[in-house]
Order: sequence, then structure tokens, then C-alpha cells
Amino acid sequence: MIKGIGAAAGVAIGKAFVLPNWEWSMPETQVNPVDLAKEFERLYEGIRTSKDEIEFIKKEFREVVGPEESSIFDAHLAILDDPVFMSEIRGIIERQYKAAEVAVKEAIDHFVAMFDLLDDEYMKERAVDIKDVGNRLLKHLLGAPEVTLPSDTKPYILVAKELSPSQLAHLNPNYVLGIITMMGGKTSHSSIMARALGIPLVAGLENKLQTPIQTGDFLIIDGDNGNLIMNPDKATAEHYSVVRDRQREKREQLELLSSVEAMTKDRVRMRLASNISSVKELDMALKYGAEGVGLFRTEFLYMDRKTFPTEEEQYEVYKLVAEKVGEHSVVIRTLDIGGDKHLDYFQLPEEQNPFLGYRAIRICLDQKEMFKTQLTAILRASVHGNIKMMFPMISSIEEVREAKAVLEEVKQDLDRQGIPYDRKLPVGIMIEVPAAVMIADFLAEEVDFFSIGTNDLVQYVLAVDRMNEQIAHLYHPYHPAVLRMIRTTVESAKAAGIGVSVCGELAGDERSLPLWLELGVNDLSMSPQALLRVKHRTLNTTASEAREVAKQCFRNREITESEKQLTQFLDKHIIQHVMKGDA
Ligand code: PEP
Ligand code: MG
Repeated sequence: MIKGIGAAAGVAIGKAFVLPNWEWSMPETQVNPVDLAKEFERLYEGIRTSKDEIEFIKKEFREVVGPEESSIFDAHLAILDDPVFMSEIRGIIERQYKAAEVAVKEAIDHFVAMFDLLDDEYMKERAVDIKDVGNRLLKHLLGAPEVTLPSDTKPYILVAKELSPSQLAHLNPNYVLGIITMMGGKTSHSSIMARALGIPLVAGLENKLQTPIQTGDFLIIDGDNGNLIMNPDKATAEHYSVVRDRQREKREQLELLSSVEAMTKDRVRMRLASNISSVKELDMALKYGAEGVGLFRTEFLYMDRKTFPTEEEQYEVYKLVAEKVGEHSVVIRTLDIGGDKHLDYFQLPEEQNPFLGYRAIRICLDQKEMFKTQLTAILRASVHGNIKMMFPMISSIEEVREAKAVLEEVKQDLDRQGIPYDRKLPVGIMIEVPAAVMIADFLAEEVDFFSIGTNDLVQYVLAVDRMNEQIAHLYHPYHPAVLRMIRTTVESAKAAGIGVSVCGELAGDERSLPLWLELGVNDLSMSPQALLRVKHRTLNTTASEAREVAKQCFRNREITESEKQLTQFLDKHIIQHVMKGDA
């Protein structure tokens, strides 16, 4: 057995298909100085074609997997506009009279070698991106065919030195049982994409194989534990096929829970809604039995386009979502850009600390016409279903009042035009900034509900950038400071008699359930993939027992204590089920 990194869960068993590396022969000849202009024209044409191709892949991928994963291709587009990368290429053509493809190849090699020298996973990933984009550009300059994956064979386990996001985007999940890469790790883009596609992946096997894998070798990969077994004996193959079948059955069993109500053994009812950013994601959420949408991240409607979406375009999407959700509610969050989310056509300032900068409600209150367009579309759609509105990143009473004043203006405009809307449309705020927690009692008097955004709350409470992999080990959702912030928020909401739910990633972590049971939070919103897991967990939990564990968690002083206890509590349940034979 060879140990790598388990980057996407699941067991896969099958024959290997080894992906050849992209290697092309380069023209040797120097360019005549009088032809330099022609060489630049070829380069720019190659860049234009590459950009069109990346836009196309991004669109396809967005539809199949989702907007967050497809944003990987924004990084690729940015490389083709990167002044440092481009001036390196231009310099080689201009000063050394080399052909465009040779210049591109040398620039790729230069940057990749530079990033590889750094002992930093994040920079190594950027090297993979540069290689991916650079190879695409090379392909166009050389007129070479792309290496494609076979689709006319039996399903296989794909083996590659490294797999670029572009290659993964073209991959047909029906043919690929699993993936092995020599490079990469859990956070590499290809791993993120494999997880989203549900394909097991073991990464980081460079220098660990005594003999290289050949196409046709029989392999087993275990993406949960990062194991690779080459040409296994019969007993091992049988053992893993039992594990694989059991995993498959479990997934299918979980799917049977789609229409079951989430209720603990002692009959505490939880309402599990979904976070969505597109209609496609809503369809998946509904398939898994989501009870409405607890967070509609509308910023994704604004992305991948050249201009702001019109009121009509937004109205159509909000209406469709409300209609599809039916009797349940849809919480539409107003535009939350800035931080890590950008719009190509809206110039955000260069900032030292974008997460502390021009973001979310701050932008909306500054760009009132844009804000009003969205509010109008939401209000108009509100007659087609059960819509609620929510403002992100609130940190003061003034912001809430100002946002509500804009909403009032929009309502008056609609009244003047005789356009109907839900006059009782509930208005809430996200609690994701520590200041909002500390004045939650005041804020609760101004709004109809709170939704706790733990992703940002954790980053702001602990001063740990949620995007920075170097400090990812300091990002602790179960830190006592975070738990206290959550408790204060819930208590303030309850004292004021308004609703409170949780929509950050923590809600989709089934270990957190005891906390919500103890606090009396019955509404959670999570990614569609988490719904069935959390439901299964709820059905197998006794609230009275869980509350005891949670009580202890709220007393813990150390950073990791609560996470440990909640994990143990979950494991204990799993062991009980295994012993009863229904795990
Ligand atoms: C959050 O911050 O927890 C949240 C749900 O919003 P987002 O992840 O979109 O910032
Ligand atoms: Mg947030």
C-alpha cells in the first residue's frame, strides 16, 4: 500500500489510464527582427483565442459543478492579463528575437521554477495555474491538438503527474472512477473540483512509487485515507469492493431521507434549508429535500458578465427561485461583493485589507442606484412566493436604518407605479461582524430576523483571513470566543422575539448539531451536499444527550476542546450504529 494524500473521499477500483504529459517540440529558428510585429500579432491572437476558450470552459463548468468552483478559471484569465507574466514573454521576443511559442515556454518555465522553489503550497498551486494557462496558449501558437481523455473505453482511474482545472473541466465523471496525481494536495484546485464532482482522488504520490503506473494496471484508491494499492491480491480487491459498495449504498440510503422530516429521536424538529447561488444549485438542494433557501448568494448573478444585471433579469431569477421553492421561504441576500468576490465591470479599489474594506452593504449604501435596482427586483418577485430579504456585513444601527430607508423609497416608487409587492416582506440581517454581535440586542429591535454567517464571523472574531492557507490552521469555528459570540446573538434574538438561523459552513458540519439544540436554534441553512448528512445525524441524535455535551462546550476555555468533544460525541453515535448493524 502506498500512502499519499486523501484529497477527495471515496473508494475507486479499476484499471489505470495514464495521461500523457503535454510536451511539444519547439521551433529552433530565430525570428528576423523585421518580423517582430508579426510575432507579437501571433501572440495576441493566441491570447485572445485562449481567453475565449477559458470563458467557454468556465461557463460549461459553472453549469455542471457550480459558480464557486468555476471561479478557478478567473485566476486563469487573470494570468493572461498579468503584466509581469506578459512583459516577460514580450521581453524574450523583443530582446532575444525568439518565436512567440518559445518565449511563452521560457516564461512558463521561469515562473514555475521560481514558485516551485518556495516552500508554500499556495504558490505551488499558482505554478500549476501558470502551466495550465501557458500550455493552452502554447497549444494555440503551435496549432497542436489537446490531450483528451478517452471516452470510448471502460471507466478507468485517471493517473496524471498533475491535473489542471481545464483538464478536469473536460472530464466525464461517467468514465472516471477515481483520480491519482503525483503532485497537488487537499487544497489544490483539482482536488476542490474532484470533491465537487464526487470523484475520489489521491494526490501527492511523487517519489513514492517504486515502479511507475502503466495504463492497464489494476488499482485501488481510497480517497478517505489517501491510500493507493497497485495490482492488489484477490482478498484485498474483495475487501475494498465491499467498502466501495457500502459507501454507494450509504449514499443511496441517505438519498432515501430526502423527503423525511429532520427530527431528533426525542422529537425536536430541525428545519434544514439550503444555501444556493444559482438555480442549478437550487435544483440539487430540492432533490435532497431542502426546506427552502436560507441564503441566496445573489452576487453570483452579477458575475461572469460584462454589465450589471438589469432589474428585469434579476426579477426573473428571484421569481423562478421563489416559485420553485413554493411553500417554504427564500432568504435573498443583497449583493455581497468585495473581499474575495469581484465583478469584472465594476472597478473595486486596490485595498490593503479587502475583507475590512469596501464590501457588501458598504458598497450598496454608496452605490444607491445599483442597490435600488436589486431591491426593486426582489420586491417585485415577492408576490410570487415566500421571499425574505437580508443585508450582509452589518456592523451598526445606522447601516440597518439607511438600508431600510432605501427600501422604503423603493416601496414608494412601486406604490406610485401601482406595482404590487409583499407589504409584509420580512427584512433581516446577517450577523457576521463582531460589532453586530455586541449590539445584537439593539439590532434585534430594528429587524425581523438574524442569520449568523459563521464564515465571516470566525475570520473577524479570530482575526484570521478565511482565504489565507498559511494561517488556515488558526481558523477555528469552535473557538470559545466564536461560541460565545454565537450564544450572545441567539440570546439577543430570542429576548426580542425575532427568528435566528445559522447559514455559515458551521451549520453544515454535523458535529455542530448539539450546539444548536442547546441554544434552541431550529433553522439551519447549508450547502446542498451537507443536507442529507445533517439530516441523518439529526434523526440519530437524542437532543437531551446532545445538550449535555453542548453545555460543556460553552464552558471550555481551550481552542480545540469543543471540537474534540463534539467529534467524540459524533463518533460514539457512529459506533453504536455500527454495532447495531445500520451504519
Ligand atoms: C458567512 O459569512 O458565513 C456567509 C454565509 O456568507 P459568505 O460565505 O457568502 O460570506
Ligand atoms: Mg459572509
